[in-house]
Amino acid sequence: MRFYFLTLFPEIFEIYFQTGMIGRGVKAGLIDYTVINIREFSGNKHHKVDDTPYGGGAGMVMAAPPIVAALKSIADLGTYPVIYLTPGGKPFEQKDGLKLSEYPGIIFICGHYEGIDQRVIDAYVDLEFSVGDYVLTGGELPALTLADAIARHIPGFLGNSDSLAEESFESHLLEYPQYTKPREFEGQEVPEVLLSGNHAAINKWRLLQAETRTRLKRPDLFEKYQKSLHNE
Ligand code: SAM
Repeated sequence: MRFYFLTLFPEIFEIYFQTGMIGRGVKAGLIDYTVINIREFSGNKHHKVDDTPYGGGAGMVMAAPPIVAALKSIADLGTYPVIYLTPGGKPFEQKDGLKLSEYPGIIFICGHYEGIDQRVIDAYVDLEFSVGDYVLTGGELPALTLADAIARHIPGFLGNSDSLAEESFESHLLEYPQYTKPREFEGQEVPEVLLSGNHAAINKWRLLQAETRTRLKRPDLFEKYQKSLHNE
């Protein structure tokens, strides 16, 4: 899987793709990335890529020509979905990560200022995603968020695919609480059942914990979980 990032700030991406599990995925050849600096396609000597909005209003808008020229620099452009990160997009969910992990590559357009010229979206963007109901200064963190969530679904990336199956949002549940050594910490004991070696009892306890915390913390998700049980 190759991730393409169209950005005004290429330096943001290097450290992320060299670190932790994402770095391991790159070394193992499971993921790769290409960062394209939109400014290099400005077509003017000052590398200006934004302009004032038609109709007036605050801020600047990223102009269409440099973004489209940057997109067209990708040799096999037509084969990959083009994603624009925007607060106005569909809220990104775990299941979107799974679906997108099936593509050989994904192109992310990272916006800045007041966003990008609508004509780029209309003619070139396949999907618009938001990472939450708040406004960030740029699309780089959202693009990395999606890339990370997508990479975790690539076969072989996690090593132990069971860890994905039991994670939050799989089966519409938040994950059960986790504990590790020491057995007692600041007067708090690890729940007895986890030390029992009884896997049926442990699974039952974990499911109950997952259901309870989902019902309390995310009633919207719990509703989906209940519906999925009825549909089984
Ligand atoms: N004027 C835009 C609006 O009100 O929707 C916000 C633009 S924001 C300051 C600049 C860029 O950050 C956006 O073009 C987008 O790429 C990115 N961005 C900001 N918040 C985001 C979010 N919640 N999800 C995805 N992308 C976001």
